Amino acid sequence: MFDAKSTDTADIATVIEPSARPDVQTLLRSADIDALSPADRMVRLRSVTDGRIVFTHGFGIEGQLLLHWIAERDIDVDVVTLDTGRLFPETYTLWAETERRYGRRIRAIYPNNKTLEKLVAKQGIDGIYESKGAREACCDVRKVKPLDRALAGASAWLTGVRADQSSVRHDAGLLGFDDARGLLKFNPLFDWTRADVLAAVKANNVPINVLHAQGFASIGCAPCTRAIAPGETERDGRWWWENGHKECGLHLPRTAGAR
Ligand code: SF4
Repeated sequence: MFDAKSTDTADIATVIEPSARPDVQTLLRSADIDALSPADRMVRLRSVTDGRIVFTHGFGIEGQLLLHWIAERDIDVDVVTLDTGRLFPETYTLWAETERRYGRRIRAIYPNNKTLEKLVAKQGIDGIYESKGAREACCDVRKVKPLDRALAGASAWLTGVRADQSSVRHDAGLLGFDDARGLLKFNPLFDWTRADVLAAVKANNVPINVLHAQGFASIGCAPCTRAIAPGETERDGRWWWENGHKECGLHLPRTAGAR
């Protein structure tokens, strides 16, 4: 489990103001979710949440494990993936294998075709390397805008975010609230380490991307992901040519109303 010395109980419990949010209040009152397993946390979330829960799955090890438990426990969750059109062939292979293994469809969300055509006409197919702005524009069109559509009308957003993935994610909390979208954000693996996840993946024979065996730790779009070297952190292989945080914008705080 995640090192308690670096993330105390208050960090894990919540980053929101309980009195302001009825759904979260209910969750917090009804169970000591910190003490539950990630699978039980998702069951609890389902039992206290009205409406659609959306799980955004990127075919990472965390997502594959969460999907395994969702299928095993038959939890009513809308499982979606953001198909940017630039994923690795190995990721598409895993997508198909996962659907066969669990006997369920993973709903694909695509970028708006007109917006994407404009983007590629403007910056070229690999314009992402030209500037940070160009890269962010690509992430916005291929990921962030589709995420907005995936989450529209949902009551809760389920993710595979863990605290020790990065300094940005360290502050996410087990429970959060996306003010811009007005929905609960739930990270049931928040206090698990990568080693915890890999052990559970192995124990449950969960299929994972073959690229992990080739040194890829965190896997996103092919042009923006490389294998990591010994001593690098797991997200150092993402947007390696840029300085600063290693996020595409999906899990960054947003100003309410911003799109
Ligand atoms: S990760 Fe790279 S290819 Fe994927 S949407 Fe972002 S900039 Fe575009």
